[in-house]
Amino acid sequence: MNEKWFIILLIESCPCDKNVLMNNIDKNNQSCCEIDGDLSRGFILLCDHARNELPEKYGYLGLAKAQFERHIAYDIGAEAVTRGLAERLGVPAIMTNFSRLLIDPNRGDDDPTLIMKLSDGTVISGNHPIDQDEIEYRKSTFYRPYHDAVSAMVEKSLAMGVVPMVFSIHSYTDNWKGDTRHWHAGILWDSDERLPHQLLERLAEQADIIVGDNEPYDGALGNDTMYTHCTRRGLAHALLEIRQDLICYDEGVDEWVERLVKVIEPVIDLPELHQVMQKGSRTGQVDYI
Ligand SMILES: [Zn+2]
Repeated sequence: MNEKWFIILLIESCPCDKNVLMNNIDKNNQSCCEIDGDLSRGFILLCDHARNELPEKYGYLGLAKAQFERHIAYDIGAEAVTRGLAERLGVPAIMTNFSRLLIDPNRGDDDPTLIMKLSDGTVISGNHPIDQDEIEYRKSTFYRPYHDAVSAMVEKSLAMGVVPMVFSIHSYTDNWKGDTRHWHAGILWDSDERLPHQLLERLAEQADIIVGDNEPYDGALGNDTMYTHCTRRGLAHALLEIRQDLICYDEGVDEWVERLVKVIEPVIDLPELHQVMQKGSRTGQVDYI
């Protein structure tokens, strides 16, 4: 197989499916795509690490092609779960179109891991050394348009008189540095307990799965996507991590979409989730928008 799978045909079309709308009028947008949905439901889905793609000119950033099939390049299964949930709930979603190896949208723009320099202890030659012009190019072409699209959707909802909650879909590896992670999924959060507590309580009723509370990692990360768009605006939010081996095939995706619909539908209209509340952050003082 040649390398064409790896090339985004940006000039011709959005890499989204045909029932998906671009986030704006720019058909050459390399940053993100938007799934149309009913914004009045007050529920916005995000997928920061949806894809493993990047423009042809970058090759594989000096890595073996196989690295782009691994978690380091994207969240396996997360896009499919996001699409499934958006369809079942009838809500909008915004998903990135680029690999996190190019630039990580779930980091503050001054975070030292924004552009990853090492992979398994090996220098990623396409990312290091890197000059300021290239960093700025990646921010302006990939990173910022995604965040601008999220901001625009939140603001559109607020302008409609609907305070939205935000639900972000990720996946994680079942094994990390030799340790098996026994959680099937985890709800990650910082200081706003509103949506996390609702989801954790209902997921706990599903006896065949173990769901971590701020596991396998802590959800308090200053200037990440949730912090930027939700903590700083006082919007209810939660980040879901699903173990990637559970959603790397169609039946697994369908199963998890159904699990999530069961826990989201009963809470989607709760008034307390549609109020602006400044809950602070465990990372420090919040500069509210
Ligand atoms: Zn992720």
